[in-house]
Amino acid sequence: ASTLRLVLGDQLNSQHHWYKEVDDSVVYLLAELRQETDYAQHHIQKVCAFFAAMEEFSAVLSSKGHRVMHLTLDSTSDFNGLNGLLDHVISELGANNFHYQLPDEYRLREQLQHFVNSRDIVSEAFESEHFFVSDYELGGYFTAAKAHRMEAFYRKMRQRFDILMCDGQPVGAKWNFDQSNRQKLKSSDLADIPAPLIFSNNVSEILRRIERHNLATIGEASSSLLWPINRGQALSLLDYFCQHCLPRFGQFQDAMTGSSEFAWSLYHSRISFALNVKILSPKEVIDTAIHHYEGNRTSIDIAQIEGFVRQILGWREFVRGIYWANMPSYTELNVLGATRSLPKWFWTGNTKMRCQQAAIEQSLKFAYAHHIQRLMITGNFSLIAGVQPNEVDDWYLGIYIDALEWVELPNTRGMSQFADGGLVASKAYAASGNYVNKMSDYCKTCFYQVKQVSGHGACPLNSLYWHFMNRHSEAFSGNLRNRMVYANWRKKTTAEQEAILTQAEQYLQDLDEL
Ligand code: FAD
Repeated sequence: ASTLRLVLGDQLNSQHHWYKEVDDSVVYLLAELRQETDYAQHHIQKVCAFFAAMEEFSAVLSSKGHRVMHLTLDSTSDFNGLNGLLDHVISELGANNFHYQLPDEYRLREQLQHFVNSRDIVSEAFESEHFFVSDYELGGYFTAAKAHRMEAFYRKMRQRFDILMCDGQPVGAKWNFDQSNRQKLKSSDLADIPAPLIFSNNVSEILRRIERHNLATIGEASSSLLWPINRGQALSLLDYFCQHCLPRFGQFQDAMTGSSEFAWSLYHSRISFALNVKILSPKEVIDTAIHHYEGNRTSIDIAQIEGFVRQILGWREFVRGIYWANMPSYTELNVLGATRSLPKWFWTGNTKMRCQQAAIEQSLKFAYAHHIQRLMITGNFSLIAGVQPNEVDDWYLGIYIDALEWVELPNTRGMSQFADGGLVASKAYAASGNYVNKMSDYCKTCFYQVKQVSGHGACPLNSLYWHFMNRHSEAFSGNLRNRMVYANWRKKTTAEQEAILTQAEQYLQDLDEL
């Protein structure tokens, strides 16, 4: 009897129990597939990173004595998707068992479930053994169509997994250090920003393959891929983060600048790709960071390590729970009824708004933007301009190196676009130019005037913000967190209000020209 085990491109978990023993009757299949390169228009570096990481993983398995079938697009493109390929490989091997790990994307989980139900082969689905909360436990924490709050979930996780806890209490006597974090970078801080650790993986062969198969991609390519594609590189990146970025991670977590060549990376870990393809496990990332914190308490305070742990143990596990509780209907949610198209400059960065230009150009160049750029720059713009969430989702799902639907969708449609009506966020993350000015130095070199709300050269974010709050006042004014906002609006004279709304209407008519 022989067994075929499918390993998807985001299941490169070398610690999985599958690999504990070498068994000659088991064949591992890793395959580049058109269905995966084509379900979104991906950044070219993202395709390169996935293909390169799959190649590396296959080589590691082979070197340990496992039987591996690694197929490139050259040998899979004639098959009808994953199902067609599986049928072929199963019959070629004469396999009578088929094993797979539960996919993290609904699309693939459905496809494989359907595949095994419709084929006459003994099949088994396994956990991917990656997350803190297993697939079978998620339902105990999350309910469909119900609003959940990250903070409550996060505290349960801290207690359950005994992370940063001391005698049942949170280390530092507080669960949340957001108040001491979230600072702006002063010009005197700029020289200290660490140069990012980047790699130079040769992907010229993969680039040729992408061209040969005419894959439609976005973004800038380079034959030297800077993202980590194997465990050695991912562990070095984690170590580099602990040494150089963790000491100020929380402090500058929300900061943005246009005045440093390292503005794109700042104090962020950039491990999301390695985590999401499971080269690194969330547990080892947290353990490593905490170990480092414990050995360096003079340079790393609790606010920094807590801020980091919160992202991985809190946010990352949380959005996954929201995703599985609400799929597949989550992909359709649009409670604010947004209908506009994404402006053309989302694909070029060619806009006079300095903040948007910086976030988009950087995303096209590196397939990366950090959280606040995604949430409060491009996300905020799309929200207040009323862009159809499907368009926003497609853009985010394509452009980022770490974009996989289970994590992209709740962050984009939920947290940033409020299209789920508050299942993820307690209020819409809408902001005017004032926020951008507070957290960055972009406004200093912008064509638009951040202090101006209407009239020639007024920052579009200002009037669009008021237009957004105004058109959704029925939905939002009851929320206590918005009380000040609406009080401020009412303080304006009717003439002021009209000038602002007229200004916004003008901008909305021609978003492409901003
Ligand atoms: P760091 O800032 O160093 O944070 C450390 C880790 O925490 C990240 O690697 C990530 O694994 C985790 N993390 C932090 N915030 C979140 C979050 N909100 N949700 C889940 N995990 C989080 N993250 C993705 O992995 N894939 C996506 O497709 C994705 N799309 C996003 C879309 C929008 C609109 C927004 C607002 C956020 C999105 N995020 C996504 C979350 C977050 O922006 C990225 O995880 C982070 O920027 C990755 O960079 P980093 O590794 O340097 O993160």
